[in-house]
Amino acid sequence: MRLKFAAGDLTIHRIVEQETTFLPAHDMLPGLTPDVLAENRGWMQATGALDDSDTLILAFQSYVVKTPHHTILIDSCIGNDKPRPARPKWNMKTDDNYLRSLASAGFSVADIDYVMCTHLHVDHVGWNTRLENGRWVPTFPNARYVFDKAEFDYWTESNAKAEVPPFVDSVLPVVEAKRSEIVGHDFAIGDHARILPTPGHTPGHVAFAFGRGKDAAVFSGDLMHSPIQTHYPELSAKFDVDQTQAAKTRRGFLERYCDTDTLCCPAHFPSPSIGKIRRKGNGFVCETV
Ligand SMILES: [Zn+2]
Repeated sequence: MRLKFAAGDLTIHRIVEQETTFLPAHDMLPGLTPDVLAENRGWMQATGALDDSDTLILAFQSYVVKTPHHTILIDSCIGNDKPRPARPKWNMKTDDNYLRSLASAGFSVADIDYVMCTHLHVDHVGWNTRLENGRWVPTFPNARYVFDKAEFDYWTESNAKAEVPPFVDSVLPVVEAKRSEIVGHDFAIGDHARILPTPGHTPGHVAFAFGRGKDAAVFSGDLMHSPIQTHYPELSAKFDVDQTQAAKTRRGFLERYCDTDTLCCPAHFPSPSIGKIRRKGNGFVCETV
């Protein structure tokens, strides 16, 4: 499994917590017809994106980007000790996959300068916090945690109507510990990291573009979940809050990076996850590098 990539003066590490079957393809992607699945089953199975019962295989991972100045962690996965009764593979987990994967990439939790969340879904905020003496504390003690304001406001409002457990156990404790930066779309870290708004999956979903002068790498979060969505950008996932907007954002993003040298780093594509966007027919492909 390839875990380390270079782009310009950046080094990118994949920190994999799980890579596993998730949901049946037709369930996750409601617009996927039996015919389109039949046409694509061969390459999807061969590349580890689909199992032999048509269930999608996804990676659940963070990326750590080492710039000349900072060590930045993007999306913090599932986490341990968190009650997630709807997802047995995530519920009250106690394995050491994640911290072991971070250590084998050469990082301790104290090394992370920034944690940046593309959005605030359960599998992108989990390791923001860990349980210590019955309290949720920031896992990365020296990090500033970057949350997009539109995204933070959306979940604040949802949580006021009905409690959103990952927001309560994995986002709010970071805010209470005064480690958060709630930022607008003009947020940047020096000339190396900036925000690219990519709404649809959630209202405040953002991608993060890295590299000086040009986008050497882009971290696209849940703008797409499975490689088949590059071939058919209009296929939205059932978890996309606004499926029409998500489809438009997805095509725009793929068009923007198509036939460039930018490394595209989606959150959930199966290993090796990272590729370059190339045109293919009326859609695109994320070509392994
Ligand atoms: Zn996700």
